[in-house]
Amino acid sequence: MTTRKLNNGLDMPTLGLGVWQSENGKETIDAIHWALEAGYRHIDTARIYENEEAVGKALQSASVDRDKVWLTTKIWNDDIEAGRNTEALDESLGRLQADYVDLVLLHWPVAGSEQAWNELERAVEAGKVRSIGLSNFMEDNIEKILRAGSIVPAVNQIEYHPYLAQQDAITASDAHDIAVTAWSPLMQGNFLKEPVFGEIGERYDKTAAQVVLRWCLQNDVIVIPKSTNRGRIRENGNLFDFELSEEDMQQIDALERGKRFGADPHDYGF
Ligand code: NAD
Repeated sequence: MTTRKLNNGLDMPTLGLGVWQSENGKETIDAIHWALEAGYRHIDTARIYENEEAVGKALQSASVDRDKVWLTTKIWNDDIEAGRNTEALDESLGRLQADYVDLVLLHWPVAGSEQAWNELERAVEAGKVRSIGLSNFMEDNIEKILRAGSIVPAVNQIEYHPYLAQQDAITASDAHDIAVTAWSPLMQGNFLKEPVFGEIGERYDKTAAQVVLRWCLQNDVIVIPKSTNRGRIRENGNLFDFELSEEDMQQIDALERGKRFGADPHDYGF
């Protein structure tokens, strides 16, 4: 397991388990326990996933200590727009049964994001969160946050995979040493339709999923693949004993086509 040094000095594990669309009960609890067993030390949830209680229960009953697991949650758009960011964070902490989280993100760039950022800065001072960051913030959005606050975001979590290289958002993030995390790194399962990943994988005795995730890591992007299947969770975690060649990296780079599987942040009007 490798970590990425953030601009605030903290080390963030480069592999996490995503739990979007995982139910608020046994499914999520099992998935987290299997991930920890497989060596993951990072869980990515959000208020809007409606499974923070299960994440909290999983961490309470885990064999790994809470302070060894990187926990990320996110403030949802309606809370940002209503200016109830501190309340939303407190509610998340309650559901997660946690005194603090490692990272809180503003989920999408909606109206009110500057005030939300200032509230998160106060939450850092209060010890409720160790790092604060953004999600789905494009270049202009990042600049607005930098002007509004004094803490530089530690992370920007964006849709990123071989069909969507996000060069502008990544260049803007790199300029401030903001670490990039890929959401939907496995293209929400669509990587299976692209035979090249399996072909490359054969050369390393790795699966197509492992090739896609490794491509992200070698581009200095943190990954949070989602699965609730024990075998796949283990498979997606087994990424640190091989390295794609420059030639294979370039073959995957060539798949870029600006294709999103999720919403376009440019439509959010911030
Ligand atoms: P993903 O790209 O991780 O794909 C997950 C899907 O791929 C699974 O449901 C499964 O069908 C398939 N899959 C997983 N492992 C596989 C394997 N080894 N072999 C074959 N198929 C496999 O999709 P995602 O859930 O959209 O993204 C990952 C995480 O990113 C989410 O769970 C969530 O935590 C986060 N996310 C954040 C945002 C945001 O706005 N910040 C948006 C979407 C997702």
